[in-house]
Amino acid sequence: MHRFFVDKSPGDENIVKITGDDAKHLDKVLRLKTGDLIEAVTEGREYLAEIITMDGKTHEVRLLELMNSKRESPVRITLYQGLPKGSKMELIIQKAVELGVHRIVPVMNERSVVQLKTQKDQQKKQERWQKIAYEAAKQSKRLIIPEVLLPMEFNESMENLPEAFQLAAYEEERTTGLKNLPFINRIKEQQSTSPSIGLWVGPEGGFSEKEIAEIKEKNGHTVTLGPRILRTETAGLALIAMVQYECGDLGG
Ligand code: SAM
Repeated sequence: MHRFFVDKSPGDENIVKITGDDAKHLDKVLRLKTGDLIEAVTEGREYLAEIITMDGKTHEVRLLELMNSKRESPVRITLYQGLPKGSKMELIIQKAVELGVHRIVPVMNERSVVQLKTQKDQQKKQERWQKIAYEAAKQSKRLIIPEVLLPMEFNESMENLPEAFQLAAYEEERTTGLKNLPFINRIKEQQSTSPSIGLWVGPEGGFSEKEIAEIKEKNGHTVTLGPRILRTETAGLALIAMVQYECGDLGG
């Protein structure tokens, strides 16, 4: 069944609207009609819904039944991803959303080859990345659309970190693996309160020593992802999967 993120409209609680590109897609590409059933997601909840009116630009949908699906991880993960070259960030965002992250922060590290200097470039990229997150959220049947922030300098990303825990994949870390970190068990025990964790991955050039020292100063830890050096686009996805397995919702 096709899935749409929708906004509740003022007035009737059970009627929601599909607008913009989604409205066009529903009509022109999927060729859905009034009376057809869809999945509608609003305010973190998923409903079975019926299309009741279509007028080209805005379609109205009636929410029929709340579906009690568990799609969101009990752990809120932010991926702080060092900006990679080319279109790799697109792949990282798509896969990170599938793996259940809540937020993605593109970070311009000391050793990032790519530096998006102008506000215009940053905004253009962010809009494209947010769209990719949206599509991936729909495809993987998420209940939320993870937010992709504007790219920011490492120093800025370190200000006011909202997550309770910080963990950096560090290629120079030889001994400490995820299993050796006691706070991973603490997160597991706190699942009912939606604990949050920031996962840090360096760009192609890796983290500088100064950056790692700063993450540690913020009570962060470093972790190895094993004896091989992973590409930056592999590292984040491996780390997210490992964290979800150890204390999120991939472990069954
Ligand atoms: N330039 C670095 C080097 O040659 O050693 C490699 C950087 S790696 C391509 C990019 C990022 O992926 C690293 O900064 C780190 O965050 C992560 N990473 C890759 N392999 C890792 C490993 N075995 N353990 C921990 N982190 C790793």
